[in-house]
This record gives sequence, C-alpha cells and structure tokens, in this order.
Amino acid sequence: MKKKMNGIRTKTGPAGTKKSAAVGAGIEEIRSLIARMAPVLRCAEDNGTFAGERDLLECPGCGLVEDTDIDGRIITYIDGGRLKDSGYRFRVSGGGRWICPICHTAGGEDGVC
Ligand SMILES: [Zn+2]
Repeated sequence: MKKKMNGIRTKTGPAGTKKSAAVGAGIEEIRSLIARMAPVLRCAEDNGTFAGERDLLECPGCGLVEDTDIDGRIITYIDGGRLKDSGYRFRVSGGGRWICPICHTAGGEDGVC
C-alpha cells in the first residue's frame, strides 16, 4: 500500500512486509553498533573519560561529588568545597553499584544509598 505524506509517497504495510523487515534490520544494526561501541566506552572510562553510560555519583556519607572537567574527564571534589579534582575515584562495578573511596559508603541501583 502506498500512502501520500507531505507530498511524498511512502510505502506502508502490515507486519511481515518489506517495510517491517527493513525496520527489523535497522534495529539489529543499532544493536550491533551498541555492542561494538561497548568496549570503546569501557576503554574511554578506564582512561578517565566519562562515557555517559551511567549517572555521575554523589556520596551521601561524605559529600564527595563526581563531575567532569571541560575535556570530559572524571573529577571529584567535596560538595561545597573547592572545585579542584581531589584525585579520589568512586569504585564502580556492574549493575550500577559503587563504593566511595573516602568513607566507603556503598550505593547503587538497589537503593542502598
Ligand atoms: Zn563518601
């Protein structure tokens, strides 16, 4: 079936048609791209660049805050203090879990903190 939209003819059709096969192929291509990007993002974060795969962290125990500098590198400082990198880094594990390097408060996705 052809449908006219804004003067442009587009093909439409029910599931199982060429259009839905093309959408499925596009989704698979995106999944493949994400899988190929994962090691690159991990490498970037291992080298101190914030990859944006998670939220920036803030420790409720001592106020250590994670942020990024103008180059996108991760820095930390105590909230309310000087905005100079303390050099401390949160230990982040899979599943969004983290541990504060100063007070050892643990937090993460399961709502511990
Ligand atoms: Zn802390």
